[in-house]
Amino acid sequence: MTVESETKPGQAIAPGATIGIMGGGQLGRMTALAAAELGYRTHVFTPEANSPCAQVCAAETVAQYEDTAALDRFADAVDVVTIEFENVPLEAARRVAAKRPFHPSPDVLAVTQVRSAEKTLVNRLGFGTAPWAPVSDEASLAAALEQIGQPAILKSDRFGYDGKGQVRIVASGGVEIAAEDAWTRIGRVPSVLEGFVDFALEISVVLARGQDGQVACYTPVANRHVAGILAETIAPAAVGVELSAEAVRIAGEIARALDYVGVLAVEMFVTGDGRLLVNELAPRPHNSGHWTIDACPRSQFEQHVRAVCGLPLGSSERHSDATMLNLIGDDVLRWRDYFADPSAHLHLYGKEEVRPGRKMGHVTFLRPLSG
Ligand code: AMP
Repeated sequence: MTVESETKPGQAIAPGATIGIMGGGQLGRMTALAAAELGYRTHVFTPEANSPCAQVCAAETVAQYEDTAALDRFADAVDVVTIEFENVPLEAARRVAAKRPFHPSPDVLAVTQVRSAEKTLVNRLGFGTAPWAPVSDEASLAAALEQIGQPAILKSDRFGYDGKGQVRIVASGGVEIAAEDAWTRIGRVPSVLEGFVDFALEISVVLARGQDGQVACYTPVANRHVAGILAETIAPAAVGVELSAEAVRIAGEIARALDYVGVLAVEMFVTGDGRLLVNELAPRPHNSGHWTIDACPRSQFEQHVRAVCGLPLGSSERHSDATMLNLIGDDVLRWRDYFADPSAHLHLYGKEEVRPGRKMGHVTFLRPLSG
């Protein structure tokens, strides 16, 4: 790092500088690849050795998030910091943010790491969510069930992603589990009870917001989940122009309220009667935005790098429509087929061990623009 690259907040960070990435997964890997294309170096901080991200970064720090000396050395070695994993412990994020520009800010993470805080924000802005209530013990779970009814989903307030930390509750006779067991299964930790939404479609909006408040939003996409994990994304979502515009408006308002910098994804349910309910925010590039690598001149990862470095955002227009398939667990064993298929844009994450439910890569297929 050169003295000239010591930057003040609000000042663009020029190519040649080093972007620190907290978290070592595939989102960091694809961010680092986009950064490299724009002439930046990357340095990953991750507890995991041989991480997907470290394989493509110029430097890595393998340490626990509680290792304050390692955090300080990491901060000193980089010019700006971002995250690729929303559950980076807040204390670690704040420590690094005290030394270097950090986007999205730890204050944003303080909201998005806690489901109840996230839902409170969304509701305060006037946008719908599934009906929900906080749960802190068996009595409040009983009260919440009384209020919300069944079926319902108990979700831990913290550390939830990809359907983890969730227990589905249905009235007796159902296939899922009973309320008494749910509280034990969730680990007796602060949670939220959510009413089950009988949605027609799940969509998400991926946008980038720059340090000057400029927003570049990709077209809303439709997502299909299997066992709580994203399986397929279709861009664009088959929704009407008005609903699409409303989804974009909601995501933009949320980003503005958070004074957000970087890429933000907002997952939503579309109900049978055409309402949009916000399910979850992801303060980072998102799996449902991977199609942008192949179908847009500026991918979500490039936009994230631009935003984090204080540069103007690029266009979020697409040149093609797209379908993205996640390669989960054994799906990746079909890699030869995808290499042989000239229409397949294959992305593998460099993970050595195939495990059920593990995201090993994705493949994107393009179609002519629908207009
Ligand atoms: P989450 O980790 O909260 O995004 O949940 C993962 C997936 O579980 C979602 O994408 C939905 O497919 C499903 N899911 C979560 N919450 C609900 C809900 N309240 N009603 C219906 N399905 C849900």
